[in-house]
Amino acid sequence: MTVSITRLNASQSDFDSSLAKLLAWDDSVDHQVNESVRHILHEVKTRGDAAVLEFTEKFDRLTIASVAELEMSHDRLQKALKNIPGDQRVALEQAAERIRSYHEHQSQTSWQYQEEDGTVLGQKVTPLDRAGLYVPGGKAAYPSSVLMNAIPAKVAGVSEVVMVVPTPDGVVNDMVLAAAAIAGVDRVFTVGGAQAVAALAYGTETIPSVDKIVGPGNIFVATAKREVFGTVGIDMIAGPSEILVICDGETDPDWIAMDLFSQAEHDEQAQSILISPDASFLDAVEASINKLLPTMERAEIIEASISSRAALIQVADLSEAAAVSNRIAPEHLELSVEDPEALMAEIRHAGAIFMGRYTAEALGDYCAGPNHVLPTSGTARFSSPLGVYDFQKRSSIIGFSASGADRMGRVASVLARGEGLTAHARSAEYRVKK
Ligand code: NAD
Repeated sequence: MTVSITRLNASQSDFDSSLAKLLAWDDSVDHQVNESVRHILHEVKTRGDAAVLEFTEKFDRLTIASVAELEMSHDRLQKALKNIPGDQRVALEQAAERIRSYHEHQSQTSWQYQEEDGTVLGQKVTPLDRAGLYVPGGKAAYPSSVLMNAIPAKVAGVSEVVMVVPTPDGVVNDMVLAAAAIAGVDRVFTVGGAQAVAALAYGTETIPSVDKIVGPGNIFVATAKREVFGTVGIDMIAGPSEILVICDGETDPDWIAMDLFSQAEHDEQAQSILISPDASFLDAVEASINKLLPTMERAEIIEASISSRAALIQVADLSEAAAVSNRIAPEHLELSVEDPEALMAEIRHAGAIFMGRYTAEALGDYCAGPNHVLPTSGTARFSSPLGVYDFQKRSSIIGFSASGADRMGRVASVLARGEGLTAHARSAEYRVKK
Protein backbone atom coordinates (compact mmCIF):
# COMPACT_ATOMS: atom_id res chain seq x y z
CA MET A 1 0.00 0.00 0.00
CA THR A 2 1.20 3.53 -0.75
CA VAL A 3 -0.12 6.16 1.58
CA SER A 4 -0.50 9.71 0.31
CA ILE A 5 0.59 12.35 2.81
CA THR A 6 -0.24 16.04 2.76
CA ARG A 7 2.78 18.20 1.89
CA LEU A 8 2.91 21.84 2.91
CA ASN A 9 5.54 24.53 2.49
CA ALA A 10 5.55 27.45 4.93
CA SER A 11 6.65 29.77 2.11
CA GLN A 12 3.46 29.14 0.10
CA SER A 13 1.01 32.02 0.03
CA ASP A 14 -1.89 29.76 1.08
CA PHE A 15 0.06 28.14 3.94
CA ASP A 16 -2.06 29.74 6.69
CA SER A 17 -5.32 28.43 5.30
CA SER A 18 -3.81 25.01 4.50
CA LEU A 19 -2.53 24.75 8.08
CA ALA A 20 -5.92 25.74 9.52
CA LYS A 21 -7.58 23.07 7.35
CA LEU A 22 -5.07 20.47 8.49
CA LEU A 23 -5.66 21.20 12.18
CA ALA A 24 -9.47 21.29 12.01
CA TRP A 25 -11.25 18.23 13.30
CA ASP A 26 -14.86 17.39 13.93
CA ASP A 27 -15.48 17.86 17.64
CA SER A 28 -19.20 18.49 17.25
CA VAL A 29 -21.24 16.90 19.99
CA ASP A 30 -23.42 14.04 18.81
CA HIS A 31 -27.04 14.80 19.71
CA GLN A 32 -27.94 11.14 20.26
CA VAL A 33 -24.92 10.51 22.49
CA ASN A 34 -25.87 13.60 24.50
CA GLU A 35 -29.44 12.40 24.98
CA SER A 36 -28.37 8.93 25.97
CA VAL A 37 -25.73 10.20 28.43
CA ARG A 38 -28.20 12.63 30.03
CA HIS A 39 -30.63 9.75 30.53
CA ILE A 40 -27.93 7.57 32.14
CA LEU A 41 -26.82 10.41 34.43
CA HIS A 42 -30.40 11.13 35.51
CA GLU A 43 -31.15 7.47 36.22
CA VAL A 44 -27.99 6.93 38.29
CA LYS A 45 -28.53 10.19 40.15
CA THR A 46 -32.09 9.28 41.11
CA ARG A 47 -31.91 5.48 41.42
CA GLY A 48 -28.28 4.87 42.43
CA ASP A 49 -27.05 1.27 42.53
CA ALA A 50 -30.11 -0.15 40.76
CA ALA A 51 -29.47 2.00 37.68
CA VAL A 52 -25.72 1.19 37.74
CA LEU A 53 -26.58 -2.52 37.67
CA GLU A 54 -29.04 -2.09 34.78
CA PHE A 55 -26.62 -0.13 32.60
CA THR A 56 -23.77 -2.50 33.40
CA GLU A 57 -25.93 -5.39 32.22
CA LYS A 58 -27.02 -3.49 29.12
CA PHE A 59 -23.64 -2.15 27.96
CA ASP A 60 -21.11 -4.55 29.44
CA ARG A 61 -23.26 -7.70 29.39
CA LEU A 62 -22.67 -8.38 33.07
CA THR A 63 -25.50 -9.69 35.20
CA ILE A 64 -24.85 -9.36 38.91
CA ALA A 65 -27.00 -8.95 41.97
CA SER A 66 -25.34 -6.00 43.69
CA VAL A 67 -22.82 -3.23 43.05
CA ALA A 68 -20.82 -4.53 46.01
CA GLU A 69 -19.98 -7.54 43.83
CA LEU A 70 -18.37 -5.14 41.37
CA GLU A 71 -15.85 -3.94 43.93
CA MET A 72 -12.40 -5.51 43.66
CA SER A 73 -11.01 -6.27 47.11
CA HIS A 74 -7.44 -5.45 48.13
CA ASP A 75 -6.76 -9.18 48.11
CA ARG A 76 -7.98 -9.35 44.50
CA LEU A 77 -5.62 -6.51 43.54
CA GLN A 78 -2.70 -8.27 45.25
CA LYS A 79 -3.64 -11.50 43.47
CA ALA A 80 -3.53 -9.65 40.13
CA LEU A 81 -0.06 -8.41 41.02
CA LYS A 82 1.04 -12.02 41.54
CA ASN A 83 -0.79 -13.26 38.41
CA ILE A 84 0.93 -11.03 35.87
CA PRO A 85 4.25 -12.12 34.30
CA GLY A 86 7.35 -11.04 36.24
CA ASP A 87 8.64 -8.73 33.50
CA GLN A 88 5.31 -6.85 33.44
CA ARG A 89 5.36 -6.43 37.21
CA VAL A 90 8.93 -5.11 37.17
CA ALA A 91 8.13 -2.74 34.28
CA LEU A 92 5.02 -1.42 36.09
CA GLU A 93 6.99 -0.94 39.31
CA GLN A 94 9.87 0.83 37.54
CA ALA A 95 7.46 3.11 35.67
CA ALA A 96 5.52 3.84 38.89
CA GLU A 97 8.71 4.72 40.75
CA ARG A 98 9.81 7.18 38.06
CA ILE A 99 6.33 8.73 37.79
CA ARG A 100 6.23 9.13 41.59
CA SER A 101 9.63 10.80 41.88
CA TYR A 102 8.91 13.17 38.99
CA HIS A 103 5.57 14.21 40.45
CA GLU A 104 7.03 14.72 43.92
CA HIS A 105 8.78 17.76 42.42
CA GLN A 106 5.38 19.28 41.65
CA SER A 107 3.96 19.38 45.18
CA GLN A 108 2.98 22.85 46.24
CA THR A 109 3.19 24.01 49.84
CA SER A 110 1.29 26.56 51.86
CA TRP A 111 2.86 29.99 52.40
CA GLN A 112 2.30 33.09 54.52
CA TYR A 113 3.84 36.50 54.97
CA GLN A 114 3.42 39.17 57.61
CA GLU A 115 3.02 42.89 57.02
CA GLU A 116 4.57 45.51 59.33
CA ASP A 117 1.38 46.01 61.38
CA GLY A 118 1.09 42.28 62.09
CA THR A 119 -1.44 41.50 59.35
CA VAL A 120 -0.90 38.01 57.94
CA LEU A 121 -1.67 36.98 54.36
CA GLY A 122 -1.09 33.62 52.78
CA GLN A 123 -2.26 30.60 50.92
CA LYS A 124 -3.14 27.20 52.35
CA VAL A 125 -2.72 24.21 50.02
CA THR A 126 -5.02 21.24 50.65
CA PRO A 127 -5.41 17.99 48.73
CA LEU A 128 -8.84 16.90 47.52
CA ASP A 129 -10.64 14.52 49.89
CA ARG A 130 -11.60 12.08 47.15
CA ALA A 131 -10.61 11.70 43.51
CA GLY A 132 -12.30 9.46 40.95
CA LEU A 133 -10.21 7.83 38.27
CA TYR A 134 -11.83 6.59 35.07
CA VAL A 135 -9.77 3.88 33.37
CA PRO A 136 -11.05 2.93 29.92
CA GLY A 137 -11.68 -0.74 29.34
CA GLY A 138 -14.17 -1.13 26.53
CA LYS A 139 -11.87 -2.16 23.70
CA ALA A 140 -8.41 -2.21 25.25
CA ALA A 141 -6.82 -2.06 28.70
CA TYR A 142 -4.67 0.84 29.86
CA PRO A 143 -2.49 0.06 32.89
CA SER A 144 -0.33 3.09 32.08
CA SER A 145 -3.41 5.33 32.50
CA VAL A 146 -3.85 3.94 36.02
CA LEU A 147 -0.31 4.94 36.99
CA MET A 148 -0.42 8.36 35.29
CA ASN A 149 -3.71 9.38 36.92
CA ALA A 150 -3.51 7.74 40.33
CA ILE A 151 0.09 8.50 41.33
CA PRO A 152 -0.17 12.32 41.13
CA ALA A 153 -3.34 12.10 43.25
CA LYS A 154 -1.57 10.05 45.91
CA VAL A 155 1.49 12.32 45.82
CA ALA A 156 -0.86 15.28 46.33
CA GLY A 157 -2.15 13.59 49.49
CA VAL A 158 -5.67 12.72 48.29
CA SER A 159 -7.17 10.58 51.07
CA GLU A 160 -9.16 8.27 48.85
CA VAL A 161 -8.68 7.45 45.15
CA VAL A 162 -11.66 5.58 43.71
CA MET A 163 -11.09 3.88 40.37
CA VAL A 164 -13.73 2.69 37.92
CA VAL A 165 -13.02 0.45 34.94
CA PRO A 166 -15.47 -1.43 32.74
CA THR A 167 -15.04 -5.17 32.36
CA PRO A 168 -17.14 -6.09 29.31
CA ASP A 169 -18.47 -9.66 29.62
CA GLY A 170 -16.80 -9.81 33.02
CA VAL A 171 -13.29 -9.99 31.57
CA VAL A 172 -10.99 -8.46 34.18
CA ASN A 173 -7.55 -7.26 33.10
CA ASP A 174 -4.99 -8.27 35.72
CA MET A 175 -2.40 -5.75 34.53
CA VAL A 176 -4.86 -2.90 35.19
CA LEU A 177 -5.63 -4.23 38.68
CA ALA A 178 -1.91 -4.78 39.34
CA ALA A 179 -1.24 -1.16 38.32
CA ALA A 180 -3.95 -0.05 40.76
CA ALA A 181 -2.26 -2.02 43.54
CA ILE A 182 1.14 -0.49 42.73
CA ALA A 183 -0.25 3.05 42.47
CA GLY A 184 -2.03 2.74 45.83
CA VAL A 185 -5.60 3.11 44.52
CA ASP A 186 -7.95 2.77 47.50
CA ARG A 187 -11.10 1.33 45.93
CA VAL A 188 -11.79 -0.24 42.52
CA PHE A 189 -15.22 -0.80 40.97
CA THR A 190 -15.62 -2.65 37.67
CA VAL A 191 -18.16 -0.21 36.28
CA GLY A 192 -17.68 1.82 33.09
CA GLY A 193 -19.17 4.34 30.71
CA ALA A 194 -21.44 7.25 31.64
CA GLN A 195 -22.93 5.21 34.51
CA ALA A 196 -19.52 5.07 36.20
CA VAL A 197 -19.01 8.82 35.77
CA ALA A 198 -22.50 9.43 37.20
CA ALA A 199 -21.82 7.19 40.19
CA LEU A 200 -18.58 9.05 40.95
CA ALA A 201 -20.24 12.45 40.53
CA TYR A 202 -23.44 11.85 42.51
CA GLY A 203 -22.55 8.83 44.64
CA THR A 204 -24.74 5.75 45.00
CA GLU A 205 -25.49 3.51 47.98
CA THR A 206 -22.22 1.66 47.30
CA ILE A 207 -19.98 3.91 45.18
CA PRO A 208 -18.83 7.06 47.01
CA SER A 209 -19.09 10.46 45.35
CA VAL A 210 -15.76 12.16 44.62
CA ASP A 211 -14.63 15.75 44.27
CA LYS A 212 -12.94 15.45 40.88
CA ILE A 213 -13.02 12.91 38.05
CA VAL A 214 -9.91 12.37 35.92
CA GLY A 215 -8.98 9.97 33.16
CA PRO A 216 -9.71 9.37 29.48
CA GLY A 217 -12.57 7.47 27.90
CA ASN A 218 -14.75 7.13 24.82
CA ILE A 219 -17.42 9.59 23.65
CA PHE A 220 -19.92 8.45 26.34
CA VAL A 221 -17.37 8.96 29.10
CA ALA A 222 -16.18 12.32 27.74
CA THR A 223 -19.75 13.59 27.31
CA ALA A 224 -20.67 12.46 30.82
CA LYS A 225 -17.62 14.25 32.27
CA ARG A 226 -18.60 17.43 30.45
CA GLU A 227 -22.13 17.15 31.88
CA VAL A 228 -21.13 16.57 35.52
CA PHE A 229 -18.53 19.36 35.51
CA GLY A 230 -19.64 21.82 38.17
CA THR A 231 -20.98 19.12 40.48
CA VAL A 232 -17.42 17.79 40.47
CA GLY A 233 -14.16 18.98 38.94
CA ILE A 234 -12.81 17.26 35.84
CA ASP A 235 -9.29 17.17 34.40
CA MET A 236 -9.92 17.90 30.72
CA ILE A 237 -11.79 16.70 27.67
CA ALA A 238 -9.07 15.17 25.52
CA GLY A 239 -9.13 15.26 21.71
CA PRO A 240 -7.27 12.81 19.47
CA SER A 241 -3.58 12.21 20.16
CA GLU A 242 -1.01 14.34 18.35
CA ILE A 243 2.71 14.30 17.67
CA LEU A 244 4.76 16.98 15.99
CA VAL A 245 8.40 16.25 15.15
CA ILE A 246 10.86 18.97 14.24
CA CYS A 247 13.91 17.38 12.59
CA ASP A 248 17.05 18.92 11.15
CA GLY A 249 17.29 16.04 8.67
CA GLU A 250 20.07 14.19 10.47
CA THR A 251 17.98 11.54 12.32
CA ASP A 252 17.37 8.08 10.81
CA PRO A 253 14.16 8.53 8.77
CA ASP A 254 12.90 5.12 10.00
CA TRP A 255 13.03 6.41 13.58
CA ILE A 256 10.97 9.45 12.67
CA ALA A 257 8.45 7.40 10.64
CA MET A 258 7.94 5.08 13.63
CA ASP A 259 7.57 8.04 16.01
CA LEU A 260 4.81 9.40 13.74
CA PHE A 261 3.17 5.94 13.72
CA SER A 262 3.30 5.77 17.51
CA GLN A 263 0.54 8.37 17.72
CA ALA A 264 -1.17 7.44 14.45
CA GLU A 265 -1.83 3.92 15.76
CA HIS A 266 -4.03 5.33 18.56
CA ASP A 267 -6.92 6.12 16.23
CA GLU A 268 -7.89 7.33 12.77
CA GLN A 269 -8.25 10.92 13.99
CA ALA A 270 -4.78 11.07 15.58
CA GLN A 271 -2.46 13.66 14.02
CA SER A 272 1.22 13.21 13.13
CA ILE A 273 3.20 16.11 11.68
CA LEU A 274 6.84 16.36 10.64
CA ILE A 275 8.49 19.74 10.08
CA SER A 276 11.95 20.04 8.52
CA PRO A 277 13.99 22.52 6.53
CA ASP A 278 15.39 19.60 4.49
CA ALA A 279 13.09 18.65 1.57
CA SER A 280 15.04 15.49 0.76
CA PHE A 281 14.61 14.36 4.38
CA LEU A 282 10.83 14.76 4.07
CA ASP A 283 11.05 12.49 0.98
CA ALA A 284 13.13 9.97 2.96
CA VAL A 285 10.63 9.85 5.82
CA GLU A 286 7.76 9.44 3.35
CA ALA A 287 9.66 6.47 1.83
CA SER A 288 10.20 5.01 5.33
CA ILE A 289 6.49 5.40 6.10
CA ASN A 290 5.59 3.41 3.02
CA LYS A 291 8.27 0.82 3.69
CA LEU A 292 7.31 0.29 7.35
CA LEU A 293 3.52 0.58 7.16
CA PRO A 294 2.90 -3.00 5.94
CA THR A 295 4.91 -4.30 8.92
CA MET A 296 2.60 -2.66 11.47
CA GLU A 297 -0.05 -4.60 13.37
CA ARG A 298 -2.37 -1.61 13.36
CA ALA A 299 -1.59 -0.72 9.71
CA GLU A 300 -5.20 0.12 8.86
CA ILE A 301 -5.62 2.65 11.66
CA ILE A 302 -2.19 4.15 10.92
CA GLU A 303 -2.96 4.45 7.22
CA ALA A 304 -6.30 6.12 7.90
CA SER A 305 -4.70 8.57 10.32
CA ILE A 306 -1.66 9.34 8.14
CA SER A 307 -3.64 9.77 4.93
CA SER A 308 -6.31 11.99 6.48
CA ARG A 309 -4.53 14.04 9.16
CA ALA A 310 -0.72 13.78 8.83
CA ALA A 311 1.49 16.36 7.10
CA LEU A 312 5.09 16.87 6.06
CA ILE A 313 5.87 20.57 6.31
CA GLN A 314 8.90 22.21 4.76
CA VAL A 315 10.25 25.36 6.37
CA ALA A 316 13.17 27.68 5.68
CA ASP A 317 15.01 26.95 8.93
CA LEU A 318 14.56 25.63 12.48
CA SER A 319 13.37 29.01 13.75
CA GLU A 320 10.51 28.91 11.30
CA ALA A 321 9.84 25.30 12.40
CA ALA A 322 9.50 26.52 16.00
CA ALA A 323 7.17 29.33 14.91
CA VAL A 324 4.89 26.90 13.02
CA SER A 325 4.97 24.49 15.98
CA ASN A 326 3.95 27.30 18.35
CA ARG A 327 0.91 27.97 16.16
CA ILE A 328 -0.06 24.30 16.37
CA ALA A 329 0.66 23.97 20.15
CA PRO A 330 1.00 20.17 19.89
CA GLU A 331 0.35 17.63 22.61
CA HIS A 332 3.73 15.93 22.02
CA LEU A 333 6.66 17.77 20.44
CA GLU A 334 9.90 15.99 19.49
CA LEU A 335 12.95 18.16 18.87
CA SER A 336 15.01 15.69 16.83
CA VAL A 337 17.88 18.10 16.22
CA GLU A 338 21.56 18.53 17.10
CA ASP A 339 21.00 21.26 19.72
CA PRO A 340 17.52 20.72 21.26
CA GLU A 341 18.23 23.15 24.14
CA ALA A 342 18.72 26.03 21.70
CA LEU A 343 15.54 25.15 19.83
CA MET A 344 13.54 24.69 23.05
CA ALA A 345 14.22 28.33 23.87
CA GLU A 346 11.98 29.20 20.91
CA ILE A 347 9.16 26.83 21.90
CA ARG A 348 6.26 28.42 23.75
CA HIS A 349 3.32 26.02 23.47
CA ALA A 350 3.53 22.21 23.79
CA GLY A 351 2.15 19.61 26.21
CA ALA A 352 5.46 17.77 26.48
CA ILE A 353 8.79 18.46 24.78
CA PHE A 354 11.01 15.48 23.88
CA MET A 355 14.62 16.59 23.61
CA GLY A 356 17.05 15.18 21.04
CA ARG A 357 17.23 12.24 18.69
CA TYR A 358 17.19 9.55 21.38
CA THR A 359 14.03 10.72 23.14
CA ALA A 360 11.22 8.74 21.57
CA GLU A 361 7.82 10.08 22.54
CA ALA A 362 6.80 6.50 23.40
CA LEU A 363 9.03 6.61 26.50
CA GLY A 364 6.97 9.54 27.76
CA ASP A 365 3.79 7.49 27.29
CA TYR A 366 4.96 4.87 29.74
CA CYS A 367 7.91 5.38 31.97
CA ALA A 368 9.96 8.58 31.53
CA GLY A 369 8.27 10.04 34.63
CA PRO A 370 6.29 13.10 33.44
CA ASN A 371 2.56 12.66 32.96
CA HIS A 372 1.18 11.35 29.67
CA VAL A 373 -2.16 13.11 30.17
CA LEU A 374 -1.49 16.23 28.11
CA PRO A 375 -3.43 19.10 26.54
CA THR A 376 -4.54 18.34 22.96
CA SER A 377 -6.08 20.29 20.06
CA GLY A 378 -4.02 23.43 20.63
CA THR A 379 -5.06 23.75 24.29
CA ALA A 380 -1.38 23.71 25.28
CA ARG A 381 -1.67 27.47 24.61
CA PHE A 382 -3.42 27.78 27.97
CA SER A 383 -3.21 24.50 29.85
CA SER A 384 -0.71 22.05 31.27
CA PRO A 385 -0.08 18.33 31.73
CA LEU A 386 -2.06 16.54 34.46
CA GLY A 387 -0.11 16.95 37.67
CA VAL A 388 -0.09 17.00 41.46
CA TYR A 389 -1.49 20.55 41.27
CA ASP A 390 -4.71 19.13 39.73
CA PHE A 391 -5.36 17.29 42.99
CA GLN A 392 -4.53 20.19 45.28
CA LYS A 393 -6.50 23.34 45.83
CA ARG A 394 -5.65 26.62 47.45
CA SER A 395 -7.42 28.64 50.15
CA SER A 396 -6.49 32.26 50.74
CA ILE A 397 -5.55 33.20 54.31
CA ILE A 398 -6.31 36.72 55.58
CA GLY A 399 -5.58 37.74 59.19
CA PHE A 400 -5.80 41.45 60.09
CA SER A 401 -4.24 42.90 63.20
CA ALA A 402 -6.20 45.67 64.97
CA SER A 403 -4.15 48.39 63.28
CA GLY A 404 -4.39 46.57 59.93
CA ALA A 405 -8.20 46.44 60.31
CA ASP A 406 -8.19 50.17 61.08
CA ARG A 407 -6.08 51.00 58.03
CA MET A 408 -7.74 48.76 55.47
CA GLY A 409 -11.24 49.08 56.99
CA ARG A 410 -11.25 52.72 55.86
CA VAL A 411 -10.41 51.66 52.30
CA ALA A 412 -13.03 48.89 52.30
CA SER A 413 -15.66 51.31 53.64
CA VAL A 414 -15.12 53.77 50.81
CA LEU A 415 -15.28 51.04 48.16
CA ALA A 416 -18.34 49.36 49.74
CA ARG A 417 -20.26 52.65 49.98
CA GLY A 418 -19.29 53.31 46.36
CA GLU A 419 -20.97 50.00 45.47
CA GLY A 420 -23.99 50.76 47.64
CA LEU A 421 -23.31 47.80 49.96
CA THR A 422 -23.95 49.28 53.40
CA ALA A 423 -23.55 46.08 55.44
CA HIS A 424 -20.12 45.58 53.94
CA ALA A 425 -19.19 49.17 54.78
CA ARG A 426 -20.48 49.04 58.35
CA SER A 427 -18.88 45.66 59.01
CA ALA A 428 -15.52 47.16 58.08
CA GLU A 429 -16.22 50.45 59.94
CA TYR A 430 -16.99 48.67 63.26
CA ARG A 431 -13.33 47.68 63.34
CA VAL A 432 -11.99 51.14 62.46
CA LYS A 433 -10.71 53.14 65.45
CA LYS A 434 -13.13 55.94 66.41
P1 NAD B 1 -14.34 3.11 27.64
O1 NAD B 1 -14.09 2.52 28.98
O2 NAD B 1 -14.07 4.54 27.47
O3 NAD B 1 -15.87 2.87 27.24
C1 NAD B 1 -16.53 1.64 27.45
C2 NAD B 1 -17.90 1.94 28.03
O4 NAD B 1 -18.67 2.71 27.12
C3 NAD B 1 -18.72 0.71 28.30
O5 NAD B 1 -18.49 0.25 29.60
C4 NAD B 1 -20.14 1.21 28.16
O6 NAD B 1 -20.67 1.51 29.42
C5 NAD B 1 -20.03 2.48 27.38
N1 NAD B 1 -20.77 2.34 26.14
C6 NAD B 1 -20.43 1.63 25.05
N2 NAD B 1 -21.41 1.72 24.12
C7 NAD B 1 -22.38 2.49 24.65
C8 NAD B 1 -23.64 2.96 24.17
N3 NAD B 1 -24.09 2.65 22.97
N4 NAD B 1 -24.36 3.77 24.98
C9 NAD B 1 -23.92 4.11 26.20
N5 NAD B 1 -22.74 3.68 26.70
C10 NAD B 1 -21.98 2.90 25.93
O7 NAD B 1 -13.51 2.22 26.64
P2 NAD B 1 -13.29 2.30 25.06
O8 NAD B 1 -14.59 2.28 24.35
O9 NAD B 1 -12.29 1.27 24.75
O10 NAD B 1 -12.67 3.72 24.79
C11 NAD B 1 -11.46 4.15 25.33
C12 NAD B 1 -11.11 5.52 24.76
O11 NAD B 1 -10.14 6.14 25.58
C13 NAD B 1 -10.56 5.46 23.36
O12 NAD B 1 -11.16 6.49 22.61
C14 NAD B 1 -9.08 5.72 23.57
O13 NAD B 1 -8.45 6.34 22.47
C15 NAD B 1 -9.13 6.64 24.76
N6 NAD B 1 -7.87 6.67 25.51
C16 NAD B 1 -7.22 7.86 25.62
C17 NAD B 1 -6.06 7.95 26.36
C18 NAD B 1 -5.37 9.29 26.52
O14 NAD B 1 -4.41 9.42 27.28
N7 NAD B 1 -5.84 10.35 25.87
C19 NAD B 1 -5.52 6.83 26.97
C20 NAD B 1 -6.21 5.64 26.87
C21 NAD B 1 -7.40 5.57 26.13
